[in-house]
Amino acid sequence: MKVENSLIQKVVSDAKSARSRYELYEKFYLSLNESAKIYLRSEAIEYKRCLSEIQDLILPGVKKICPTCNIICCKLHCPDLSIYTADIVGGFTLNDYLLVRCDQILPNPQYENVGMNLCPFWDNGCRLPVDSRSYMCIQYFCDNLKKELDLEAIEHCLRNIRKVLDSFSIGKCMI
Ligand code: SF4
Ligand code: SF4
Repeated sequence: MKVENSLIQKVVSDAKSARSRYELYEKFYLSLNESAKIYLRSEAIEYKRCLSEIQDLILPGVKKICPTCNIICCKLHCPDLSIYTADIVGGFTLNDYLLVRCDQILPNPQYENVGMNLCPFWDNGCRLPVDSRSYMCIQYFCDNLKKELDLEAIEHCLRNIRKVLDSFSIGKCMI
């Protein structure tokens, strides 16, 4: 029980820091000039194309098995699956946040979810558009989901996403 309480305290504390960081991402995006936003939108085309491609491969499996799953992996702490996402809203780093944010307004995170050990974007499924997920979320598959997927094709898509992220430059947004 002591361990469980300290884990919950850690989740709440990490979720607060994650919220502050996420709000800074948005402030940074809003501070960018028009040429930075043009650069972002051009890089986002490939990021979002790759995400749509990977979602086409994943979603049939997700639709088949996730609705009856009693684990739900979009939790802030999930000891069963050894993933931990309380310290990062929606799994976003600054880079992938900018890439998904540059051509659309994202749904507001529901921070009240934290008290239910759920991601702020969860509401009976992910509320983010399918082509606007973080790299962290798009590369996570539980063992049961893996059995439904063409992992070779998915790894190919993930490589392309990593290429976009590796070549993306925050510096170019600040010129
Ligand atoms: S990916 Fe796996 S753990 Fe997550 S909701 Fe689907 S079946 Fe459950
Ligand atoms: S952002 Fe969406 S996919 Fe990622 S953990 Fe949250 S609800 Fe799940």
